[in-house]
Amino acid sequence: MSYQHQYIDGTRIHFPLGKVVCIGRNYAEHAKELNNPVPTEPLLFIKPGSCVVGLDGGFSIPDDRGSVHYEAEIAVLIGKPLSRTPNEEEVLDAISGFAPALDLTLRDVQSRLKDKGHPWEIAKSFDGACVLAPFVPGDTVADLTAIGIRLTINGEVRQDGSSAEMIFPIVPVIQEMAGHFNLQPGDVILTGTPAGVGPLNKGDELVLDLVGHSSFASRVL
Ligand code: ZN
Repeated sequence: MSYQHQYIDGTRIHFPLGKVVCIGRNYAEHAKELNNPVPTEPLLFIKPGSCVVGLDGGFSIPDDRGSVHYEAEIAVLIGKPLSRTPNEEEVLDAISGFAPALDLTLRDVQSRLKDKGHPWEIAKSFDGACVLAPFVPGDTVADLTAIGIRLTINGEVRQDGSSAEMIFPIVPVIQEMAGHFNLQPGDVILTGTPAGVGPLNKGDELVLDLVGHSSFASRVL
């Protein structure tokens, strides 16, 4: 079945699936673990809607293109159009939900592309490269600067971060993104990954938490 946005109670969200606008290196410790400089301006990229799959019931990863890394991230669902330079209130009003997500990355491929100075698309935007859990409604999250994101694999916590550690916090990131790209209802924002990224393997059992809000078990098929 094709992906459709939904809330954690199973309610369908009737926005079309749009693009996924992402920020890279938004946690200093993660930038360092991949030997990247800590950015002084937001590093933005887009995953097309075609790469989105649901977390529920498990997901597949490519097995013929080198290592596939997990990056657990806080996802934000956009529910109202945003463009140019929206103010903070307009951004908050446009947020329809929050969910944990995986920004899957072909790390070997990405490293080769980076070495050549080429774009990352084939490492970041392959089919299945964005795994989204159902959303909690936006108004159930009171403090956007203290949202926890945690990934546990085979019983071991691998990533445990908070939006408090972001170099560019959620609202300013969305303002920046809207300055470059019109954001539409159904678009998703990925807000960067904390330290602890690593390879996924077939059969891995995952638990992905938006700490205090939602928790989902899944596996690599
Ligand atoms: Zn990422």
